[in-house]
Amino acid sequence: MRGRPVQRLITADQVLPGPAGQRIPDGAVLVDGAEITAVGPRTEVEPQAGPEAVRHRAATVLPGLINAHVHLVWDAGFGMLERFRAADDAQVLLGVAGRAQQALRAGVTTLRDLGDRDGLVLRVRDAIAAGELAGPRLLGSGPPLTPPGGHCWFFGGEVSGPDEIRARVDRNAELGADVIKVMASGGQMTPDSAPTWQNQFGPEELALVVRQAREHGLPVAAHAHGTAAIEAALEAGVDSLEHCSWQAEGGEGQDLRDDLAREIARRGTAVCHAYPPDWAGFARITGQEGARHAVERVRWMDEFGVRFVPGTDGGLPTSVFDDFAGALGYYVEAIGWSPARVVELATSGAAEALGLAGVGRLAPGFAADVLAVDGDPLADFAALHRQRLVLARGTAVTPDAALG
Ligand SMILES: [Zn+2]
Repeated sequence: MRGRPVQRLITADQVLPGPAGQRIPDGAVLVDGAEITAVGPRTEVEPQAGPEAVRHRAATVLPGLINAHVHLVWDAGFGMLERFRAADDAQVLLGVAGRAQQALRAGVTTLRDLGDRDGLVLRVRDAIAAGELAGPRLLGSGPPLTPPGGHCWFFGGEVSGPDEIRARVDRNAELGADVIKVMASGGQMTPDSAPTWQNQFGPEELALVVRQAREHGLPVAAHAHGTAAIEAALEAGVDSLEHCSWQAEGGEGQDLRDDLAREIARRGTAVCHAYPPDWAGFARITGQEGARHAVERVRWMDEFGVRFVPGTDGGLPTSVFDDFAGALGYYVEAIGWSPARVVELATSGAAEALGLAGVGRLAPGFAADVLAVDGDPLADFAALHRQRLVLARGTAVTPDAALG
């Protein structure tokens, strides 16, 4: 896989370096091996390319996309949980690798996986990083912490009491986790576990998870549907709130607390809404009111300046890995944010929220994670689907869209 470093010159009608408001008309990006070496007006960058440089041309070039919440061990079909539980490690590893590659061929150059079995995703991450396998940059949590029989217990992260909490965090760190995931509230897909609105851990237990993660220098992502779980996780000092759906005690309706939203914004805690690519279909399943509430709470948090990071909960039924552009369309079409803001959300914004240095921007010294598309996504967001080239740390991948 790993060959001689290749120089690539990508010229385009416009270069979007990542942050909203930045746009270089008639621009170019120069890549040397795994790194970007120059970005700017074409007339300045083109002369820096050597005669051997591989040349690409596109309408728009932007950083590769970042999906901050997936589960690569699941196959996104109905019955995925039964298939996962019946699969041996070899089968799971192949599935993880294949789905990571699917995501890459749809323009996603970084994926954060928030729950697997025995750190299998971390082994695929290492194989990709070693150049043994094509794929996006992976970050993974390994088995999430959950009480015995709690939400997603089958990943193997069941803990009861402080000693087991410490031991599980230590074990995940040993597996090579990039982040510690804790199921602060119940969830939808585990029969006989706590309902989604209910806390699974007490405040001291969550604080212990965070302290122990810090011992290893790791951030903490908390799955939190209920307002009570959001409050407890925030107090504990977690780095991101996954789902963050503000469910009221008892599960009836939303409990939107201004004081908490203000505090989430003040602390810079990232919120990952985790909404699937087929959000319109999902809205039909959750019903009119559920869909309206989801939009309302994102807009409401936004008023306080909460930092968002995009994710899809990929792997759950219908949450496919190869349509992240569709998932981003939610923020433009349903929430009403500008395409420029959503491009930032999925590139430089996500990289900063996840603490990824040297990723998520088109700038010299940054990783050569690049997406080239036909058309102008700032004018027509659907252009993000018309993908022509993906570079993952400088390695060229032909997107599925370019073949269709
Ligand atoms: Zn999830």
